[in-house]
Amino acid sequence: MKIGFIGLGIMGKPMVKNLMKAGHQVLAFDIIPTNLENVVSAGANGAASIAEVAKSSNFIITMLPNGPEVKTVVLGDGGVLENASSGTILVDMSSIAPGVAQEIHAACAKKGVSMLDAPVSGGEPKAIEGTLSVMVGGETAIFDTAKDVISAMAASVVHCGDIGAGNTTKLANQIIVALNIAAVSEAFMLSTKAGVNPEKVFNAIKGGLAGSTVMNAKIPMILDGNFNPGFKIDLHIKDLTNALDTAHQVGSPLPFTALAMEVMQNLRSHGFGQNDHSAVAKYYEKLTGEEIRK
Ligand code: NAD
Repeated sequence: MKIGFIGLGIMGKPMVKNLMKAGHQVLAFDIIPTNLENVVSAGANGAASIAEVAKSSNFIITMLPNGPEVKTVVLGDGGVLENASSGTILVDMSSIAPGVAQEIHAACAKKGVSMLDAPVSGGEPKAIEGTLSVMVGGETAIFDTAKDVISAMAASVVHCGDIGAGNTTKLANQIIVALNIAAVSEAFMLSTKAGVNPEKVFNAIKGGLAGSTVMNAKIPMILDGNFNPGFKIDLHIKDLTNALDTAHQVGSPLPFTALAMEVMQNLRSHGFGQNDHSAVAKYYEKLTGEEIRK
């Protein structure tokens, strides 16, 4: 496989490094030169353009912010489709709307390019460890061909259904994460206001039914007042927008997601959009004037 990788942000950089650890050579590109330099200094080949990646690779991974960026990179002038050979496999690992993944897949099929949608969960720490959870949509035969390469970045790779199924699964994941962070923030503010040390509350409940991967990852950040991303509020707003749009299309009500969305919109309008999504705690801190800290 000649692997190309486009999108070297918080997630893309460590994913490229894990592909190289597994023995793959990677041709990488990003519009931000320092992101490209980061992976080149770790051993990747740097491309000057998307066209160069597409011309020189037969397995292309994209890890971009959202659907519009994936459409620009894949369908745009000088993009992947204009330059890729028939038989190329495109694996879009960005979190985008399922309908957009289906649209891009249809355009790819016309050029003989196969596509999987394969968004991830686990955030930067698991991207660094190479233990992401990957949820994949697309044809079984393409999934079978791509699985080994994807596994170099992941602890779990699950085929969820046809194209778009990966992103539908990711929307479910993002709803659960958003509501879990909101619940944790609300509960730990209660303990703070009632005078019970939130660190003690965490240690007492993390092994019980309320314990969660989200709580284990986010409460230590909140207790330290460390809101460096991680996963930005702006990106979570993007995912909840895709969730609400998709839910409205299929007729599935999302009342609590809509509430979590408004909390995040409020935080963004106060300048916290680039904070980690654990900054949902700040919403409660603004309401009460107290901080949830050790
Ligand atoms: P990021 O903003 O850190 O990185 C995106 C990268 O894409 C940037 O380096 C940017 O320069 C590049 N890019 C944008 N447009 C481009 C173009 N036209 N050509 C080439 N490069 C371009 O985002 P991230 O945190 O790495 O997230 C990437 C995707 O993964 C998003 O869809 C996000 O929702 C998803 N995701 C992120 C996390 C996380 O914890 N950060 C976890 C799971 C999933």
